[in-house]
Amino acid sequence: MAATATAAPGATGALGATAPAAASPGHPAAALIDQGAVAMRSDPDASKRDAEAALALLRSRPDVDLEIRARLLLCDYQSERNEAALDAEVAAIEALLPRSRRPALRAGMLVCQGEMRETLGDNAQALAYYEQAVRVASEAHDDEMIAGALFSRGYVLGLQGEYALGLADLRRAQGLYETLGMRHHSLTAMNGIAILYNRMGDYAQARDIYSSALAQQREAGMLREQAVTLHNLGRAHEYLQEWAEARRAFTESLAIHREIHYARGQAYALRGLAAVENGLGNWRSALATLAQAMTLQQATPDARLRAQIDLARGTALHGVGELDAAAAALRTAIDVFRNGEARGELAASYSELAAVEAARGDWRSGYTQLALAKQVNERLLRNQIDQRFATLRVEFDTASKEAENALLLRDIHENERALEQSRSVRRLQAVAIALGALLVLLLVWLAVHQRRSTLRMRKLAHTDELTAAPNRRAVLGRLAATLTEEGAGPCTTLITDIDHFKGINDRYGHPIGDEVLKVVAQAVRDDLREPAFFGRLGGEEFLIVLPETALDEGRATAERLRERIAAIDLAHICPVGGGVTASLGVTVSTRGDTPSTMLQRADEALYAAKRAGRNAVRVCSPADAASVTFADGTQRHAVDEARGNEFQEATGPSA
Ligand code: GH3
Ligand code: MG
Ligand code: MG
Repeated sequence: MAATATAAPGATGALGATAPAAASPGHPAAALIDQGAVAMRSDPDASKRDAEAALALLRSRPDVDLEIRARLLLCDYQSERNEAALDAEVAAIEALLPRSRRPALRAGMLVCQGEMRETLGDNAQALAYYEQAVRVASEAHDDEMIAGALFSRGYVLGLQGEYALGLADLRRAQGLYETLGMRHHSLTAMNGIAILYNRMGDYAQARDIYSSALAQQREAGMLREQAVTLHNLGRAHEYLQEWAEARRAFTESLAIHREIHYARGQAYALRGLAAVENGLGNWRSALATLAQAMTLQQATPDARLRAQIDLARGTALHGVGELDAAAAALRTAIDVFRNGEARGELAASYSELAAVEAARGDWRSGYTQLALAKQVNERLLRNQIDQRFATLRVEFDTASKEAENALLLRDIHENERALEQSRSVRRLQAVAIALGALLVLLLVWLAVHQRRSTLRMRKLAHTDELTAAPNRRAVLGRLAATLTEEGAGPCTTLITDIDHFKGINDRYGHPIGDEVLKVVAQAVRDDLREPAFFGRLGGEEFLIVLPETALDEGRATAERLRERIAAIDLAHICPVGGGVTASLGVTVSTRGDTPSTMLQRADEALYAAKRAGRNAVRVCSPADAASVTFADGTQRHAVDEARGNEFQEATGPSA
């Protein structure tokens, strides 16, 4: 019944065009089954043919799930037609299910069985099947099957007057279909929601939903659904006593049902048209239409449709004065409506029967029927009010729960965002700190490196490369500092010059000459003690400075140095061995002396030593230099003559 009144997604709906046989792609039966599921709503006979063709293919190439789906199509087809045929399909499906990959297919079978109960007018049994279907589908977390079962359950709950519960089911079903992208099913569910409004007595609301559903169905080319919606729209108009609109809707519904050769749909539409004639008082016309409806109806075991036809017939027969026939028709209708819990129609039947009995003069029975009508109507009204209230409560609960959820979600979202933000701030801080530390390290390293290289450069700038002794600039700078030191005593200064060094170069080669220079420098270095210092003046000449040292002590040092150099054995440098000697010139500082004047005098003394035969020490004191400056043109000769007695002859062998 659900399938007729609303084109319920039901058993096959859940396996419809949007649920292709993913498990067995490429099987030729899969396409046929998909096609059949679509056809179920537009051309049930074509759907049956597709299902049978699919089963034929499956015999040569078996596939359990596909076979179940094909049989569910047949089951759906039979649920509105033939109980025995349906039972055969159910038994076959039951046998296949243990080997199925999709356990929720059982829900499809249960829905199909429920539909059969509904067709037979046993809504309580139907509901029991749907409950089971919802449970099975939910346990399998199969949204599509859950939606199908919820739709069927919601529809029957609505039939039983449980509008709030019914609406909740239908809305859930519609939501699931929408999420699954199953537009056709979602529309059908919407239709079901409108039916419930209808039953709650809110015909205007129902009419508006039908109208918009109809527009969408036309757009999507859903022919069979259009026929059903048109029928339902006609009923809403019928309740609102909008006869012209009702007639238009029923007429169009009838035309489509004829086009798709659906007898039962035609019977429903004809019943609607008869109700319109009744409403307008055209009793005979109504009876003629109902006769057609009954003929078509006889092919299908639809108890409720039969009762609705009987109600309309009773009304029309009453109109034409055939009171006994009217009463009989109405009593038949009442029996069915009482079982089916269809209170609105039951109340209408009672009050029509009351009028018939009154017309027959049976006042007692008339009164009884009227009282029953009043009772049912009151219950219906109370129930409608209760249900509207309950619906509002369900809607309010849902809305406030949704609002709460939205709020909670927003809170969670914001918290997460704040957390993420603080996390990224901390990350940035850590990176900044690390970079800062790295930068500091780099700067420290650079500073150390810079300082080291500055020191090295300075040292290089002040050091003689060959001997590693301070160079000329360094040693003269230090001498200048020593000479200008406040309150310093005498400073004796020596120049030493290797004798016949050119000869060494010439004989043994320049590299050997270099080695000799190094050895002599080391000999001088080894001999001196702080605060004495020395440096290489250039070539084979070294300057030795002895701060706080008087001339005599300085001369003694010079003598010691001369001996030390003369004692050097060149065996480890020079292949032929031998030795080396040096000559030394000595002077001591006086007030106003500069490195230049000191060098001059030391040089004078050195020349004197050379002239005296080398390997010798000679002194030129400040007094010596002064006393002879004007005696003879050059200082050197003056020194020689003035201090001739102090010249010493060379005492050792010369190189
Ligand atoms: P005198 O006894 O008069 O000092 O004679 P001398 O040969 O030592 O003096 P002279 O000034 O004629 O020669 C000095 C030589 O020293 C000339 C030059 O080639 C050499 N000389 C200068 N610097 C270096 C050096 O760094 N390495 C070497 N191997 N020879 C050098
Ligand atoms: Mg020289
Ligand atoms: Mg020399």
